[in-house]
Amino acid sequence: MTWSNTKNEELKARAHKVIPRGMFGHQSTGMLPDEYPQFFSRARGSRLWDVDGNEYIDMMCAYGPNLLGYGFEPVEAAAAAQAALGDAMTGPSQSIVELAEALVGMIDHADWAIFCKNGTDATTIAIVTARAQTRRRKILAATGAYHGAAPWCTPRPAGVLPEDKAHIVYYQYNDADSLEAAFKANEGDVAGVIATPFLHETFKDEADVEREFAATARQLCDKAGAMLILDEVRAGFRLARGSSWARLGVQPDLSAWGKCIANGHPISAVVGSDAARKGAESIFVTGSFWFAATPMAAGVETLRHIREGDYLERTIAAGRRLREGLQQQAAAHGFTLRQSGPVQMPMILFEDDPDFRLGYAWVTEALKRGVYLHPYHNMFFSAAHSLEDMATALAATDDAFAAVKQRKGSLEPHPVVARMFAPH
Ligand code: PMP
Repeated sequence: MTWSNTKNEELKARAHKVIPRGMFGHQSTGMLPDEYPQFFSRARGSRLWDVDGNEYIDMMCAYGPNLLGYGFEPVEAAAAAQAALGDAMTGPSQSIVELAEALVGMIDHADWAIFCKNGTDATTIAIVTARAQTRRRKILAATGAYHGAAPWCTPRPAGVLPEDKAHIVYYQYNDADSLEAAFKANEGDVAGVIATPFLHETFKDEADVEREFAATARQLCDKAGAMLILDEVRAGFRLARGSSWARLGVQPDLSAWGKCIANGHPISAVVGSDAARKGAESIFVTGSFWFAATPMAAGVETLRHIREGDYLERTIAAGRRLREGLQQQAAAHGFTLRQSGPVQMPMILFEDDPDFRLGYAWVTEALKRGVYLHPYHNMFFSAAHSLEDMATALAATDDAFAAVKQRKGSLEPHPVVARMFAPH
């Protein structure tokens, strides 16, 4: 079937009339290539179909929620069984206790859990808990890190008051000196430090956390009586079956989880150690859907597969296959790729591509050949991404490299991206 986008374009036109800007949040940035579909009809395993019926090997996994494969049967069966009994009820089902027990069992620093819906809920509850626990105001966050779309952390200024961010102080990720300086400048008033498990910003190479930085963050928090908060929303359970910093021997006091913990069902969580329990007991946080039983049943089953299955090894094997294959292809076609980060959560950028025109052209060519890549955000793989899927994807990317090589002289940068990176 040849690639087409007629229905998608029709829906986009309709959306513009009834949805602000046609779409909101990260789906509205207008920064993906124009050909990228906005609307999808279904997903299964590693595959995604858009409204025009185009099938893709999906390298985004819903921006993280798909970990075991779309529609993974055991999780869907557990969710369906609970949904048949009741979902949003007047209070939670027993699975809230089972889910909390599972997280406490899997995450070393966790002694308790609170459940919510989105990653933003979880990071926000984490900072509120830290403030309640310490009775202080300042939260130290890394410049450029994404922690969600609430006023304290949204990357866009519209509708946000200076007061909303007045007590967020910025440091540089992996720069222990900048963290120490932030502590010094706010002595006696630091409630917590929030950090992602590794550096995963858009349009940038990913970078692993430096052990020294993580250890220093822990020491500075201990010395000042502040809480260390790990934002696991994106990377959680994609690097390890427990806390992402356990391998460094660094335990946070609080961590925020979301995206994949129920394999796509809507639920997120804050977990904490007993050092933060008083704070967690004192705050008031809730939501109409936060006690819904179906996502919790899905979460219990997802966590069981995380503990007992080989999803992690499978995603790493698939990611490695893709990384090696792409490296060879790029070289054969005369391009240099910068593939950074963990192979199962890669960022793939082109060398010598300051306005990203090569990358954008390449992902667009791959899209039309059945592979959904991302030109500026890290990608995600699931346990359903087989080595065969990666071989199929690589056949498409090889042709995509060849097509870009041919068009190289006539490529234009994406206008929105060009504006972002234009020299001032
Ligand atoms: N923290 C991190 C590190 C994230 O990547 C995200 C979402 N991409 C969030 C928080 C916010 O999660 P959500 O979009 O579910 O609110």
